[in-house]
Amino acid sequence: MNPAPSNSPEAVIFDIQRFSIHDGPGIRTTLFFKGCSLNCAWCQNPESISGMPEMTFYAERCIACGACANACAEGAVSMDSGRRIIWEKCTACGACARECPAEALRLVGATYSVKKLVRESLRDREFYEASGGGVSLSGGEPVLHSRFLASFLPELKTHGIHVLLETAGNYPFTLLNPLLPFIDYIYFDYKLPDDAAYRVHTGKGNQRILDVLGALVDQAASLTVRIPVVPGINTGFHQIKMMAHTLRAYGISSVSLLKYNPLWEAKIPRLNTRQNALGINMNAVDAVDYENVINQYSQYHIKASLPS
Ligand code: SF4
Ligand code: SF4
Repeated sequence: MNPAPSNSPEAVIFDIQRFSIHDGPGIRTTLFFKGCSLNCAWCQNPESISGMPEMTFYAERCIACGACANACAEGAVSMDSGRRIIWEKCTACGACARECPAEALRLVGATYSVKKLVRESLRDREFYEASGGGVSLSGGEPVLHSRFLASFLPELKTHGIHVLLETAGNYPFTLLNPLLPFIDYIYFDYKLPDDAAYRVHTGKGNQRILDVLGALVDQAASLTVRIPVVPGINTGFHQIKMMAHTLRAYGISSVSLLKYNPLWEAKIPRLNTRQNALGINMNAVDAVDYENVINQYSQYHIKASLPS
């Protein structure tokens, strides 16, 4: 598992998006937790996989001034490398980014205490109240921060904030179960036809994920299953049939399809990641016949839809 600070009283957050309208009802603040127990080949946020803050390099901005190399006490900057950072040596102290005149270096991820993240979450409270919105927990995998959330979520509840969790379900249910009284709605991402496909494309099998989904269904949790559509990986006739049968077996009769976005591949050169580009270009994305995908799911008694 990638390092994720589940025992930490602080959480590493890599982004806070305000006025979000795609992560649940109304106007929301989406908190992106760093650290994930899956390694999806198409991860839209590859900077979320490691649980620790990390330095990123934007080569197109660099003017090769050398200020970063002078600032680094660890010898973790190489002016000879096109990627600039020697990640094995880097401690993510941020000194190089502070000296960079071109904003070519950025530290991704910052630690937040419960108090600080509650303060951030309440800033747009009047917009939540006016729109029926709230706070969404995204990532990465927020549930890996269960100990932090056990303190954070009750604070939001005392302020009457609607909370939505986006999760991929790859953890023991015991991490999520105590948090459920403080979560109003769940987006549960189910991605691939079977255990073998999960192992190939995410690095982990699907049994634990299905166990969590089954436990949520048993508890009648309010949830929507979402399927990130990945052209050629889960869009074939046989793949859809298997996914539909699995979801039906867990009592799921409707799913929300997420359209694939290939823009994440531009992030790869900036990061210390083992991810490779999938090479799914816009032509392949445009070629996905969503009406056909929806019709195929309906053949297996699953009502599939795209978010409006
Ligand atoms: S973040 Fe710190 S250790 Fe890493 S390259 Fe920059 S100055 Fe060096
Ligand atoms: S300080 Fe910034 S602009 Fe200068 S060499 Fe380093 S990354 Fe490039």
